[in-house]
Amino acid sequence: MNNRIIVAIDGYSSSGKSTMARRLAAQVGYRYIDSGAMYRAVTYYALEHGLASSDGRVDTSALIAALPEIHIDFIPASDGKQHTTLNGKDIETEIRQLRVSNVVSPVAAIPEVRHELVAMQQRLGLEKGIVMDGRDIGTTVFPDAELKIFVDASARTRAERRYKELKEKNEDVSFEDVLSNILSRDEIDRTRKESPLRKADDAISIDNSGMTLAQQDAWLEDIFHKTVEKCQK
Ligand code: C5P
Repeated sequence: MNNRIIVAIDGYSSSGKSTMARRLAAQVGYRYIDSGAMYRAVTYYALEHGLASSDGRVDTSALIAALPEIHIDFIPASDGKQHTTLNGKDIETEIRQLRVSNVVSPVAAIPEVRHELVAMQQRLGLEKGIVMDGRDIGTTVFPDAELKIFVDASARTRAERRYKELKEKNEDVSFEDVLSNILSRDEIDRTRKESPLRKADDAISIDNSGMTLAQQDAWLEDIFHKTVEKCQK
């Protein structure tokens, strides 16, 4: 297929962009890449190797030195989703835990970490036919992406979604902790020096606070097909 495009979906923490991206990719037969999972995998490595602690402290130079030892991949799993692996081990469950969420933004603010992961993300997009979600996909990773979406929702809505998800996984968390993690990640992601979270000038915005999944899917698929058509002309 030669009319394949790149779809970049960026937005705030827990805005539902991964769900949106995964469902679009499945619908149109594209590969889905969760770039946040890659930052989470590096963070998990740092926590496991004593290079970061749950209070947000990171041993930056040791982590930079360890980057060549960190190999991240995605494998299809029996639940129908892709699971993230770190040096061959499935760490999908671990990287979603609050202990990782609490340190991931300081890790993702380290320029060397970003350079490494951005290069990997760009390699994954070489053949197009990809939907990638994150914070800087439309601005830094694929500034020429044919379709860019920027997703937002109120902080309370986002925290409610993430809280429900964590509770379903039996994590012992309070709503206040989840909300405060989301607000602090937003702040670090927006204000970091290296590729901060921001809407690309040519991205289409969507606030999905009051939308059902079906409405969201229909909205995105419609824009996707219009964009592919436009690119063929
Ligand atoms: O998307 P998710 O919430 O799983 O991302 C976890 C964290 O990884 C974000 O809060 C952000 O700090 C970082 N991230 C990033 N750039 C991306 C994707 C995620 O800095 N492209």
